[in-house]
Amino acid sequence: MASKVKAKVRKIIIAIDGPAGAGKSTVAKLLAKRMKFLYIDTGAMYRALTLKAIRKGINFAQGRQLTGLAKKTRIDLENKSDGAIRVLLDGEDVSLDIRKPNISRFVSDTAKVPGVRKEMLTRQRELGSKASCVLDGRDIGTVVFPYADKKFFLDADFKERVRRRHKELKETVQGVSWEDVEKDLRNRDTIDSSRKCAPLKQAKDAIYIDTTEMTIEGTVKVLLENILGSSVDN
Ligand code: C5P
Repeated sequence: MASKVKAKVRKIIIAIDGPAGAGKSTVAKLLAKRMKFLYIDTGAMYRALTLKAIRKGINFAQGRQLTGLAKKTRIDLENKSDGAIRVLLDGEDVSLDIRKPNISRFVSDTAKVPGVRKEMLTRQRELGSKASCVLDGRDIGTVVFPYADKKFFLDADFKERVRRRHKELKETVQGVSWEDVEKDLRNRDTIDSSRKCAPLKQAKDAIYIDTTEMTIEGTVKVLLENILGSSVDN
């Protein structure tokens, strides 16, 4: 009797890192859709945990408490058919709440705690082992998936990053000022790139893309061409 051979399809990992406002999440989402890959927004995981910490009144200087909280918190990321994602915190849909300025203000304090990162790292690797995926974050190419099939580092001028984030926030948050956004990005840039554990930095083998003058579609096209090794139509 012929034995059944189960073909094992290798999972493909695309890592996209960079600072806030460089266009990572929009580009990653579209890229995942085009490639029919899973999209994993790792920042959303840190944001969801920050929301829970705020609700519980945890002091952000207490790394141990944040680590304890991370261990007993369930965070699910669901890919919706329209390409958007749903973020569930212990089963509750917090997709909109986690984008608010009070979360952005504290998220880097949550994310710099080594115990928190260790917990998220395990979960992110587990998620990435299930399907071919596009992950975006700060340490995907350096720490989470150092052997990713393709790595990109998206960047843009500081002013342009502020402009993009301000435009995005204005649609949902009333009275958000340019100065507030500028302060938030500066604060997060500093903490994210200076922390000891898994700081934001470009992996040696990542492709650096300055998106300052690029459109979203143009950026997705460049990434796709790099991944496929041939030119693609829009
Ligand atoms: O990507 P986003 O801006 O939503 O990420 C929010 C914050 O989460 C970042 O400023 C950073 O502090 C943290 N983060 C991280 N590592 C990741 C993804 C996000 O430290 N892989």
